[in-house]
Amino acid sequence: TPLFTIENLHAGIEGKEILRGLDLTVNRGEIHALMGPNGSGKSTLAYVIAGHPNYEVYEGRILYKGENILEMTPDERAKLGLFLAFQYPTAIPGVTVANFLRLAVNSVRKARYGEDKALSPREFRRLMREKLAMLRMDESFATRYLNEGFSGGEKKRAEILQMALLEPEFAILDETDSGLDIDALRTVADGVNALFNPNMAMLIITHYQRVLSYIKPHFVHVMLDGRIVASGGPELAEELEAKGYDWLKAEFAEAA
Ligand code: ADP
Ligand code: MG
Ligand code: MG
Repeated sequence: TPLFTIENLHAGIEGKEILRGLDLTVNRGEIHALMGPNGSGKSTLAYVIAGHPNYEVYEGRILYKGENILEMTPDERAKLGLFLAFQYPTAIPGVTVANFLRLAVNSVRKARYGEDKALSPREFRRLMREKLAMLRMDESFATRYLNEGFSGGEKKRAEILQMALLEPEFAILDETDSGLDIDALRTVADGVNALFNPNMAMLIITHYQRVLSYIKPHFVHVMLDGRIVASGGPELAEELEAKGYDWLKAEFAEAA
C-alpha cells in the first residue's frame, strides 16, 4: 500500500471551500513537488495535512500508513512520523535551538519507540553533532536562542535540522525556498538531499521551479483552484518555468 494517499479532499476555512476534490498518492522513496500559482491552495493543503484547527474538512480521506489521519490530533500525526517544515514556534526567549529540539525529538521518540527511548542530554548532543556535521552546519548554531535574530536562511536551516533529528517518514516542506538567496537555497537543498532515503517520502511545495534544480523530484503536480490539474515528471516543472501558469489557467477555464 502507498505511504500516503489523499482521496477526494474537500476542505476550507469558515465554510469557504478552498480544496475542491484533491487526489494524491505518494509512495516511499519518492519526492513529489507540488507547484501552483499564489492562492491555488497549496498552503491550505499543508495545514489540512498537519491538522491545523482553523481548517475544516468537508469530504474525503487522508490515509497515512493505512490510517485516516483526519481523525488524529496534530500531535498524533507528528508522532506517526509526519513532519511539516513550518511547524516550529516563533522566537522563545531563553530557549536554545538545542533545548527546543531535544524536547521535540524526545516527545516523538517516546511516542514512536517507547517511553524508555528518550535521549539523555549527552546522547542528544551526540546525535545533534552528527546531524550538524551531515548538514555542514556550525556547532555554535545549536547554542543560539531559537529564531531570535535568525535570518530567513537560518530559520530554514533550523527547520532542516529539526527534520534531520526527527527522522520523519513523510516530510512536507511548504515554500522552504521562498526568500532565500542562492547560497541559503543551496544549503537547504543539500540538507534535504542528504536526509532523503528510500524509506521516506517528501512533498516539496513551491511556487517557483528554482528549488527543483537542486532537489530533483520524481513527480511534479500542478495545483489550480484547489485541485491537481496536471501531473508529470520533472519536465513539467521546466515547462512551467518556460511557459508560466497562464496556459494551464486558460486550458482549465475552458474545461470548467
Ligand atoms: P497558496 O499557498 O497556493 O498560495 P493558500 O492555501 O494560502 O494558497 O490560499 C488558497 C486560498 O484560500 C486563497 O484564495 C486564500 O485567500 C484563501 N485563504 C487562505 N487562508 C485563509 C484564511 N485564513 N481565511 C480565509 N481565506 C483563506
Ligand atoms: Mg469531489
Ligand atoms: Mg502558500
